[in-house]
Amino acid sequence: MSFPSGAIVPLLFPGGLLVGMMIWVLHNPPLALMIEPFIDVLFLVIVVAAFFFGWRFNRCRLLYALALLVLTDRLLGWNSAAHEFIRLVAGIALPLNLAVIVWFGERGMLTGRGIRRWLFFALQIALLGWLYHRYSNITIDLLERKFIPWPVADLCPLPHSVQSAFSLAFVLLLFRYGCYPKVFEGCFIWATMAALFAIAQSFIAAPATPYIVCSLLILLVGVVESSYSQAFRDELTGLPGRRSLNEALLKLGSRYAIAMVDIDHFKKFNDTYGHDVGDQVLRMVAESLRVVRGGGRAFRYGGEEFAIIFRGRELPETVRHLEALREELATSVFILRGKDRPHKKPEKPRPATGKEQELRITVSIGVAQRSGENNSPEEVIKAADEALYRAKSGGRNQVAD
Ligand code: GH3
Ligand code: MG
Ligand code: MG
Repeated sequence: MSFPSGAIVPLLFPGGLLVGMMIWVLHNPPLALMIEPFIDVLFLVIVVAAFFFGWRFNRCRLLYALALLVLTDRLLGWNSAAHEFIRLVAGIALPLNLAVIVWFGERGMLTGRGIRRWLFFALQIALLGWLYHRYSNITIDLLERKFIPWPVADLCPLPHSVQSAFSLAFVLLLFRYGCYPKVFEGCFIWATMAALFAIAQSFIAAPATPYIVCSLLILLVGVVESSYSQAFRDELTGLPGRRSLNEALLKLGSRYAIAMVDIDHFKKFNDTYGHDVGDQVLRMVAESLRVVRGGGRAFRYGGEEFAIIFRGRELPETVRHLEALREELATSVFILRGKDRPHKKPEKPRPATGKEQELRITVSIGVAQRSGENNSPEEVIKAADEALYRAKSGGRNQVAD
């Protein structure tokens, strides 16, 4: 598990921002009073929207979490003799189920797997119902027991069992985010944070619904945000795609340079090793371009061509960084995964058989900056393309401006 530096933004936005707003609004009495009459309508609107997006975008995790949060909200708001039992088991089941749902793959709701998952939730509800009817007092006693040895646990109004369940859930959620640092995984952490507030409210006899609304809103915004960013990202390489490039071109100031990068003799990789190896080569080159220095931002332009935008940079400086990139690629040895490579790392790895293919990849780069002659981004790209053509005809593996 690792937290690459680029993982912080999807963690904080939009989930962290929404939780910050939730705390600001709901803990600010005049604001909280102002929105109080609209909470029920807001709840309904968000539930309908979440259901619609979950169904249309095929996001089962949103739908499972939606069902779980709505059920919890209704049960917490239910004025019955079971209230004490409900808030205790909800305080344990809600975070742990959210932490389990985030690990589910998006595999459809009505497939065999999807139906088994619904059964998993139904079984929990049946088990809790049975516990309530047979052993309600014992369960409450057990769940209210103090067992955390540190005095800090008593500063929190929540029973130790609930504190432990949320702590375990956050560990699982953070671990998931470490493995998959994506917007939606980040949103699950914050949705669970909002759920913690909701449960805490029920322990001080205050309404939990505003916090459940916030939890749902975070997941809903997460789905919209991740679908939006998916549309702007190239699926194969993970780099921003052509649509992102077009957007970025609109926001350029008056000083910038654009480089066009093309893999040399790329067709040869496809022809010699097959299309899958060609794809692997594209991913490996994209990884090097992603970390280009000099403030460059790389995009997949199409096929085996990439564009790099250097905002606010002059040509000589840009050429220096591109030279370093070209050199680094040309001197790297890329190891291709063998076809018989196991998906999981075996306990006793086999010694290298020599079947792993070593590849050498070179790129040609053309670069141009905005000038009186090339005034628009389209003209700069055209000039960079012409420079790329010169780099190719000059023998490849070089930078031309
Ligand atoms: P040059 O040095 O002149 O650039 O030669 P080249 O072989 O790299 O250029 P050419 O334009 O002849 O070939 C590009 C090849 O890239 C042809 C196409 O099949 C392949 N290609 C384009 N997109 C993809 C892709 O997404 N995956 C794979 N594997 N191949 C792709
Ligand atoms: Mg090409
Ligand atoms: Mg090429």
